[in-house]
Amino acid sequence: MNFKSYIRVIEDFPQPGISFKDITTLLQDGTVYKQVIQELARQLRDKEIDVIAGPEARGFVIGAPLAVELGIGFIPIRKSGKLPGETIEADYALEYGKDKLAMHKDAIKPGQKVLIADDLLATGGTIATSINLVKQLGGEVVGAAFLIELDELNGREKLGNIDIISLVQY
Ligand code: AMP
Repeated sequence: MNFKSYIRVIEDFPQPGISFKDITTLLQDGTVYKQVIQELARQLRDKEIDVIAGPEARGFVIGAPLAVELGIGFIPIRKSGKLPGETIEADYALEYGKDKLAMHKDAIKPGQKVLIADDLLATGGTIATSINLVKQLGGEVVGAAFLIELDELNGREKLGNIDIISLVQY
């Protein structure tokens, strides 16, 4: 399946110079969406993963169905101020803009093996921050999975020595 042909590229969104990879055109096709999740699951099935964590909002779109497909739990990593329980927070920079991510303090049991999932790896800032939060909570990050990877931005280098998979590269 040529997943790339289902992704719409919109130039100069949300600001000049950014080539935005719009996955909504892929998600609206149920067959293709399912194949994306099944292909990621196929590549991950042999790995020891206890739980998947994904950052708001498109990390939920990939991470949650992937967790269901693998029969494991899903942990939302959210923007500051959204989670109702006690949280830890960390600042992060995006390819465009800046924000804060948060996780519930009791989201992870010490020693749990965590896979991080998101729609797209750009600079790696979001995922590096997610890894930092998971580690602070005592989790072991065993890998990261993406639908899309922007090779030029070298996001992989920020993520240290973990397994990284992506289905579509630009
Ligand atoms: P980064 O922290 O730079 O790796 O950025 C990753 C997050 O920002 C992902 O969760 C994407 O949803 C979003 N993002 C960054 N760059 C793009 C892009 N060129 N097209 C679509 N989404 C992007």
